[in-house]
Amino acid sequence: MESFDTYLRAAEQAHGHICAGQVLGVRMAMLGLNKLGIEDPHSQDRKRLVTFVEIDRCATDAISVVTGCRLGKRALKFRDWGKMAATFVDVTTGRAIRVAATESSKALARQMHPELASKNQQQMLAYREMADDDLFTTQWVKVELPPEEFPGYKGERVVCDVCGEGINFRREIRRDGKILCRNCAGERYYSETENKQ
Ligand SMILES: [Zn+2]
Ligand SMILES: [Zn+2]
Repeated sequence: MESFDTYLRAAEQAHGHICAGQVLGVRMAMLGLNKLGIEDPHSQDRKRLVTFVEIDRCATDAISVVTGCRLGKRALKFRDWGKMAATFVDVTTGRAIRVAATESSKALARQMHPELASKNQQQMLAYREMADDDLFTTQWVKVELPPEEFPGYKGERVVCDVCGEGINFRREIRRDGKILCRNCAGERYYSETENKQ
């Protein structure tokens, strides 16, 4: 594993700025990897790790940089729960560790560095210095990872009976003998407008 500072620099570059979230994300990912005994997530252990993140904030980018798990590689799974937490899954052993930032870490950061003006500055420094146990809670968990969730999964692609668009990774819904995509099944995040292009 690289040093904290090396990861933080890489995270800063990927994310576009340095912030308390980057510090938190780097530490969270390093702790997860340490617990799993994964040394080299970018080459030797590249295919060992799948990471679930529970928030889409600054820390998420840092976690991705340290672990090498990316959305486009299917090794980063996003669960939109609004929680500063991530679960690191070793797919070779089935062991998984969930790491969550403690609520008390914010107040502790304030106490540690009252001399600093901004909350971000306080947290940036305090999150570097704080003990793992003050910053995080960890728990060993079990993650069911069906074959279609694995990064290299090659499965059949089906076509939605309603809109005709293709669907990968068994994300279709079968209802009344029909194959439906999530949208046509009613699980919508957009609605159509008048002007069809
Ligand atoms: Zn940021
Ligand atoms: Zn459809």
